Amino acid sequence: MIERVYVGLGSNLADPAEQLREAIKAMSLLPQSSLSGVSSFYVSDSLLPGQPRYTNAVAALDTSLPPLTLLDALQGIENDQGRKRLERWGPRTLDLDILLFGDRLIDEPRLKVPHYQMQVRAFVLYPLAELAPGIILADGRALNDLLAQCPFEGLERLPS
Ligand code: ATP
Ligand code: MG
Ligand code: MG
Repeated sequence: MIERVYVGLGSNLADPAEQLREAIKAMSLLPQSSLSGVSSFYVSDSLLPGQPRYTNAVAALDTSLPPLTLLDALQGIENDQGRKRLERWGPRTLDLDILLFGDRLIDEPRLKVPHYQMQVRAFVLYPLAELAPGIILADGRALNDLLAQCPFEGLERLPS
């Protein structure tokens, strides 16, 4: 079964936009998968003070990989691009988070889907809306309602 997955990308180290482009290329080469869309890139201040600004985007991937296999593959791409896990929410070369996985609700130790924080992250919701306008999440929430609660303020959309 092929399912549509939305992956959130983020970087705030070592040429963030280039990190995102490299990660998109790597995702397009994943087995049993095809990349079917990428949002614009968005820049915003870090949620934590004292970190460089983040560049974020969302990619749509059609895949028949099982969720944990995809998570392993995405973590492999993070590692290939020099992700160091020093502190939670520390600055990073690359973060790849599974936002939505078809119509699944996943609650496993290593994987929670929908992503637990997406509703409060403008840098996730606005790029997602470019690829999946009007989508209803597997838990019944409407993306449009989440957008209405989450101001665009502070995001800068880069020209593509
Ligand atoms: P946040 O989760 O707040 O965005 P983060 O992305 O910096 O923080 P990571 O260090 O990338 O956190 O990941 C921590 C752990 O989160 C991973 O080891 C992974 O197993 C787990 N995890 C749970 N749900 C997801 C998900 N939907 N996508 C990616 N990782 C997830
Ligand atoms: Mg994250
Ligand atoms: Mg992550």
